[in-house]
Amino acid sequence: MIVVMQPNATEEHIQGIVNTLYELGLNAHLSRGESITIIGVVGDKSKFLEKNPQLMPGVERLVPISESYKIANIKFHPEPTTIDVRGVKIGGGNFTIMAGPCAIESKEQLLESAWAAKNAGAQILRGGAYKPRTSPYSFQGLEEDGLTYMAEIREQTGMPVITEITSLRALETAVQYVDLLQIGARNMQNFELLKAAGKTNLPVLLKRGLSATIDEWLNAAEYIMSEGNEKVILCERGIRTFETSTRNTLDISAVPVLRSKTHLPIIIDPSHASGVREYIAPLSKAAAAVGADGLMIEVHPNPACALSDGAQSLNPADFKALCEELKPFIQLAGRKFE
Ligand code: PEP
Ligand code: MN
Repeated sequence: MIVVMQPNATEEHIQGIVNTLYELGLNAHLSRGESITIIGVVGDKSKFLEKNPQLMPGVERLVPISESYKIANIKFHPEPTTIDVRGVKIGGGNFTIMAGPCAIESKEQLLESAWAAKNAGAQILRGGAYKPRTSPYSFQGLEEDGLTYMAEIREQTGMPVITEITSLRALETAVQYVDLLQIGARNMQNFELLKAAGKTNLPVLLKRGLSATIDEWLNAAEYIMSEGNEKVILCERGIRTFETSTRNTLDISAVPVLRSKTHLPIIIDPSHASGVREYIAPLSKAAAAVGADGLMIEVHPNPACALSDGAQSLNPADFKALCEELKPFIQLAGRKFE
């Protein structure tokens, strides 16, 4: 439930409601808009309702929230959320590109990818150190060594860095090196991992599960947010369908659907969505046109020799060309890309 305050409600009125909620053992989630303040009620609201809150000073009306996700809900927070990562803004009118190799293979490979990403205009460097591979015999990632390269290259390039955490152990290590955590498709409903990420204060990029509905995805975001970390970014990376000509099917409609349900920033990953290098440019343009807040794209200095996902990785020249081609789409969508 949310308590919508009157436009002329005073700070005292707002604090009165917040204190009542705390006294009842509930949590209050404040969202201050330009003219009205909304107080989200987190917890069992029945005790609060017994106090007749609609009669409390400054209260305009009470609105029930039927969805099980609350803090992620647009009704709790009508303004779009902007997340700041070392000066790079994600959401709220910005267009942010995260790029880099699927897996960190060596310091040189990561450094080359980082400069390729940065020179083309990407703001954030991605790189997998713990790889959730389908086969146990495939390259599994450099783990902590890879993260030390990331931290070093962040200092050299000034780019914030993101890596995937696949376990609680990986999370404990990664928080010492990176600026954003990624929870991948295969772990979208790993509730222990979601809760642990919610106890950190790093932004979390939460990818959509292979067969997850939007409702399940938003509930997964709520797991992170309900632990106190509200810096969640959603990443659509394609879903499983009957179609086999692409690795997954990019659910472009997820963007407007999410916009109507949540205030969280939305990123599209056309690399994992398609699995095919040639489709990344048109899908990236579609992502910008549909109003996504940015992209995550795999870039490798030499895709033919990549240890993972080479077929969907762009080389530096193709990535630079794509970023140029994207600019008019980003501009038409009314977003800032700096
Ligand atoms: C990745 O980004 O490297 C990755 C494994 O993606 P996903 O979880 O979307 O498959
Ligand atoms: Mn990959």
